[in-house]
Amino acid sequence: MNFNAGPAALPLAALDRAREELLDFEGSGMSVMEHSHRGKVYEKVHSEATALVAELLGTPLDTWDVLFVQGGASMAFAQIPMNFLGPNMTADYVVTGAWGEKAVAEARTIKALGGGEPHVAASTKGADKSYVRVPKQEELTLTPNAAYLHVTSNETIHGVEYAVGPEMPFPKAAVPIVVDMSSDILGRRVDASQFDMIYAGAQKNIGPSGVTIVALKKEMTARGRKDIPTIFQYRTVAENQSLYNTPPTFAIYLVRNTLTWLKSEGGVAAIEARNRKKAAAIYAAIDGSGGFYRCPVEPACRSIMNVVWRLPTAELEETFVKEASAQRMVGLKGHRAVGGIRASIYNAAELSWCEALAAFMKDFAKRYG
Ligand code: PMP
Repeated sequence: MNFNAGPAALPLAALDRAREELLDFEGSGMSVMEHSHRGKVYEKVHSEATALVAELLGTPLDTWDVLFVQGGASMAFAQIPMNFLGPNMTADYVVTGAWGEKAVAEARTIKALGGGEPHVAASTKGADKSYVRVPKQEELTLTPNAAYLHVTSNETIHGVEYAVGPEMPFPKAAVPIVVDMSSDILGRRVDASQFDMIYAGAQKNIGPSGVTIVALKKEMTARGRKDIPTIFQYRTVAENQSLYNTPPTFAIYLVRNTLTWLKSEGGVAAIEARNRKKAAAIYAAIDGSGGFYRCPVEPACRSIMNVVWRLPTAELEETFVKEASAQRMVGLKGHRAVGGIRASIYNAAELSWCEALAAFMKDFAKRYG
């Protein structure tokens, strides 16, 4: 039972298919990763993967560019201001955790190179440096005519997610909204049309590491600077259907397998229903523990992808992780920056794992509480 935060569990069906197809892809006598990225065999996989992202995310290819980029979401932190935050411009950032902080920090480096000014429109960092919520709309100080507003949909480390319920919706702005969906993309239904750009490292809900999904409205792509290196322009990737240079073909192939699985499971609505059940099982174990377990996140912002909680002492947390691991539950140690426990329960994590974890939590609390 793999509760790793990323790279994370992949659906068994996607891996099984990869194993079957590994040595002889579609009767071609070689593996998909040995094919030319400009040949017919790979091209079919590439366009199927692109179409699946567009369909499942709700970003139709007539009005959106759907791209495969390398460098991870971390490179996007730099590439977004490179493309869109030109001199004398401002970009607003909502900071709800460590990844949002990193996004702002990279934008500042672009300012130092002659770019515009990133502005923190809201930060929910608490006095103790923790993040336990997203801001309400009225807390945002938005810049009129900002180049964009950047938001992190789910803060993976803190377990803080936007728009889990209707109380804390995604922000609204008169400017393009760019969202880092690395850790909750396709984990639930989200109206893509409220955004102008959606990006995510694949290694949580979509496939293996090594490829980043970037969806931009075509007007957004067109707005990008033309005076930065060609390889960093989203335009270049879009104009070449993510084949400007050699793409990570095997990673994209596994995205294809993973999304085919997602679709066969009933699509995003079905996966969301399962994800909500998974999260509810663990939160119920936390809330029903009489205070032995404590989730610091405000209920309206509790992530359904990364559930975080504390035990009374760091020693007990260590024992918890050790005992869980003996029961074949791995990846539960909280991020090194915040400690505690974290269960990452992305799409491929099964409901039965979450139920087993909840049962283990009850038993552990009985023994140590
Ligand atoms: N944003 C979020 C929300 C993340 O969870 C992560 C990775 N955990 C990143 C960005 C960075 O992604 P990458 O490792 O692909 O650069």
